[in-house]
Amino acid sequence: MSCCKKKVLSSEELMEKEHNFGAHNYHPLEVVISKAEGVWVWDPEGKKYMDCLSAYSAVNHGHRHPKIIKALKDQADILTLTSRAFFNDRWPEFAEKLADFTGKDMVLPMNTGAEAVETAIKLIRRWGYQKKGIADNKAEIIVMKENFHGRTTTIISFSTDPDAFTNYGPFTPGFTVVDYDDLKAVEEAINENTAGILVEPIQGEAGVVVPHDGYLKGLKELCEKNNMLLACDEVQTGFCRTGKKFAFMHEGIVPDVIIMGKALGGGVFPVSGIAANKDLMNVFTPGSHGSTFGGNPLGCAVAIAALDVLEEENLAHQSEELGKYFRERLVAMNSPKVELIRGKGLLNAVVLKKEAGKARIYTTALKEKGVLAKETHDWIIRFAPPLTITKEELDWALDIIEDVLK
Ligand code: PLP
Repeated sequence: MSCCKKKVLSSEELMEKEHNFGAHNYHPLEVVISKAEGVWVWDPEGKKYMDCLSAYSAVNHGHRHPKIIKALKDQADILTLTSRAFFNDRWPEFAEKLADFTGKDMVLPMNTGAEAVETAIKLIRRWGYQKKGIADNKAEIIVMKENFHGRTTTIISFSTDPDAFTNYGPFTPGFTVVDYDDLKAVEEAINENTAGILVEPIQGEAGVVVPHDGYLKGLKELCEKNNMLLACDEVQTGFCRTGKKFAFMHEGIVPDVIIMGKALGGGVFPVSGIAANKDLMNVFTPGSHGSTFGGNPLGCAVAIAALDVLEEENLAHQSEELGKYFRERLVAMNSPKVELIRGKGLLNAVVLKKEAGKARIYTTALKEKGVLAKETHDWIIRFAPPLTITKEELDWALDIIEDVLK
């Protein structure tokens, strides 16, 4: 029935349509993705590319992992959404599994990373008032310069990126911003109203900024000494991206609150949440926080499968080993254009010298040759392929990267 067949639009036509009808709140590379499998994606014209961004680390498992897609389809045939007005048979299973994965007593489910961050902020504030005894509305949370924790009005209130906060005021008070990777600055910012610290173990959006060894340990010690909570935002770094289940594990510490999102949804469905022990999580009482879709059976089924895959396929080890190899080969390229290579596991960045020209030139050149990576700020290219990538596939990308950075 050709009359009813959907017209297949070209990449050009799709980009034009998006430009006309979609808000311009992103500046995408000029590539349209219409199909994906594993580390590979295709545009409508059939050109194949390797995805070296993984939807900002949400596709750690590779595109359309068969086990995760099966869980999605099977669950879609049975039950998808109940709201938390009723119990459902998937959320308790997922809660137990994620509690076990994180080593915490309890979890609270949300959908997006920003919602999980908001949840952690609420937990820290409530704990500050109810358990620490901070005076009403005086609670403060220490956060870091160049942070990225999401896009809600409260979260952008403590962003230091003008693109993120300009003309969105009035802003939410109660946050003290200090330099990242500076323990002394944190120590000096602490007062009797400080309820906690919110930190990314590696600053992803800032350009994969890895703090010095001992930074997280130092933050944890400051929290213990001053009766404060440490919340690690693992939305981008979690679920094996940096070579361990969570990035804080590189320092052998355990934060009080673990904030998760992105890859928890296995690259197919938004699933996020926080994990904490019972004495903290019990600041939440019925009606004090929630989400219509948080804990929905479809998302829970997907997330259970996503957690299984991480363990069954030993993706932490894979990320650690291939990450080392990736950085070694980048360093060996000895490119005159490169200032610095940094990262952990398969979350890596190439920082370009200013005279080499802007990163967009390079991400565009990489795209032309079949490697999709994204610039962050003007001079940094982030590489974060799916953790299921093979060494051969990584070598294929590295040969192209070498060609472009020559
Ligand atoms: N926290 C971190 C560290 C992130 O990298 C991001 C997204 O990039 C977020 C929070 C926000 O997640 P979402 O876009 O799902 O709200």
